Order: sequence, then structure tokens, then C-alpha cells
Amino acid sequence: MDCLFCKIIAGEIPSTKVYEDDDMYAFRDINPEAPCHVLVVPKTHIPSMDGVNAENSAVVAKIFEKIPEIARLGGCENGYRVIANCGPDAGQTVMHLHFHILGGTVLPIHIVPEK
Ligand code: 5GP
Ligand code: ZN
Repeated sequence: MDCLFCKIIAGEIPSTKVYEDDDMYAFRDINPEAPCHVLVVPKTHIPSMDGVNAENSAVVAKIFEKIPEIARLGGCENGYRVIANCGPDAGQTVMHLHFHILGGTVLPIHIVPEK
């Protein structure tokens, strides 16, 4: 499958690992938007949040159980924000479900357009 994050998980494309287990891989974003910017992906290919269902949601739960530890390993020591972009309006560019963990500084509050 021609998927960038599947290739990163397989080690075919290099990345800076933060955490890995049987279910997930966490690595530093190549274009960080904060001092701590880690991506967490399931090792199974799920295209986006729209692809989460009763058959595969256990891995999403496992990722969320692990995010506090991954955030601290990545350098988010004083809080963090978790973001999943889904689809064109959210600006999703890689069609393999991923959660951004952002922190390491005080983050701007407004992440959605002003009303
Ligand atoms: P999205 O915009 O889909 O929510 O997030 C995709 C993220 O993947 C972006 O923040 C982008 O910087 C990151 N990214 C794209 N290509 C690579 C890559 O080859 N390596 C790493 N580590 N991150 C990447
Ligand atoms: Zn994939």
C-alpha cells in the first residue's frame, strides 16, 4: 500500500521514534509546530477518524491510554494538546489515522476560525 505512515512504521522511511509497542508507533513530526510535536499512529492502516469503527476502535483506546506517557517522553512536560485532523476541511494531508501531540510551550488558544 502506498501510505507514507505505513512506510514509516515499517522502517522504510526514517523517523525519530518516541515510543513503540505492538499496537502503535509514535515519532516526531518532520515539520514541528511546537517544541514538542509528536505523531501517534496505529500500526494497522486506518485512513482517518472516519474509518474508526467497532472492529478497530480498541487500538484507538490503547493509543489514548498511552498518550500521557508518550507526551512526557516527547518533551510535553507541562501539558499538551491532542489533535486529529479528518478530511479536507481540517487539512488532513496523510490518510493514515494519526494524533498530533503538541506542547512544550504555552499554545495559542484559537485553533478554529474566529466567529
Ligand atoms: P495532517 O496535516 O495530515 O494532520 O498531519 C500530517 C503531519 O505529518 C504533518 O504535521 C507533517 O509535518 C507530518 N509529516 C509529513 N510527512 C512526514 C514525514 O515524512 N515524516 C514525519 N516525521 N512527519 C511527516
Ligand atoms: Zn497507512
